[in-house]
Amino acid sequence: MSTKDFVEKDYYKVLGVPKDATEAEIKKAYRKLARENHPDANKNDAKAEERFKEISEANDILGDPKKRKEYDEARALFGNGGFRSPGGPGGGSFNFDLGDLFGGTQGAGAGGGFGGGGGIGDVFGGLFNRGAGAGTRTQPRRGQDIESEVTLSFTEAIEGATVPLRMSSQQPCTACSGTGDKNGTPRVCPTCVGTGQVSRGSGGGFSLTDPCVDCKGRGLIAENPCEVCKGSGRAKSSRTMQVRIPAGVSDNQKIRLRGKGAPGERGGQNGDLYVVVHVDTHPVFGRKDDNLTVTVPVSFTEAALGGEIKVPTLGGPAVTLKLPAGTPNGRTMRARGKGAVRKDGTRGDLLVTVEVAVPKELDDKARDALETYREATASEDPRAELFQAAKGA
Ligand SMILES: [Zn+2]
Ligand SMILES: [Zn+2]
Repeated sequence: MSTKDFVEKDYYKVLGVPKDATEAEIKKAYRKLARENHPDANKNDAKAEERFKEISEANDILGDPKKRKEYDEARALFGNGGFRSPGGPGGGSFNFDLGDLFGGTQGAGAGGGFGGGGGIGDVFGGLFNRGAGAGTRTQPRRGQDIESEVTLSFTEAIEGATVPLRMSSQQPCTACSGTGDKNGTPRVCPTCVGTGQVSRGSGGGFSLTDPCVDCKGRGLIAENPCEVCKGSGRAKSSRTMQVRIPAGVSDNQKIRLRGKGAPGERGGQNGDLYVVVHVDTHPVFGRKDDNLTVTVPVSFTEAALGGEIKVPTLGGPAVTLKLPAGTPNGRTMRARGKGAVRKDGTRGDLLVTVEVAVPKELDDKARDALETYREATASEDPRAELFQAAKGA
């Protein structure tokens, strides 16, 4: 706001009341206009928002007898539009930005700039707190971050997947057009006079603002609360969004999807979406970081004599592994590149653990062969080393 703007700003005209209007007339005019132009009742109407701000600003000044008196005096002093420097050379118009003088931290220092116009800071100091507050309200606001969760199958987590994600968010209640009032005619909050914000720590020409607690920052109070939204003016709505989960996610991993959160306000950035991923277990494969694991049964003879065994892979053809003669039970071998997808697109390995399977039943031929094997190995005691070790130490 420039100096010229301020002095030329006719708050009486904004509220449509005469200069000698009574307090009650001003209050009445303000309530009517605030209700008509409240942003909650005029969604996406920038002009109404602008009008509402002007109306609030005008009421903040004219609705307060002390501020109104200051305003009247200031206008009488500097005229209607001709803001002349009383002591300045040539008496030219000021070109300061009042925001610099009163709205920010420079207030005290910049006050000296008035020179001959001593005391002006006092006159305006009180008036512009409101202006600073209004400025904060119009700044872009980043949308909120949203957290959601999704459960993927084991394979989806390895390969990556596009999944539908249902998300709920707050929208204006359709039953009451977001006013919170059954009849669509909420009362302007008397505490914050409809701004939804209250100032605190006023002093030195600037102030901080907090959301108003009486109306929860809405600026309106519903006398006949809407039954659908219980007077909040907000309704939960849910939407479904397709979300791409990258390949290689693990159980309980949190993924950040930039800009997929709640939409920003007044040109602000969108928030982010965080998705916590749960991964189902697989009946055959397990996972260890980038590697997949699988346990493969082998016969005693395969382990003892060696051989080639076929091993299943996740989502691909089986691979053949060479089993060396004398492979002990529980040995783990590696099938390279058959594991989980890494960030760079390469894959980890498949870790294959062999488990020697003991036949549950034997036919005569197999039994005879094993009896022969027993005789051939009768001199070997498989527990000899165990007993030796048990005796020592
Ligand atoms: Zn309030
Ligand atoms: Zn409602």
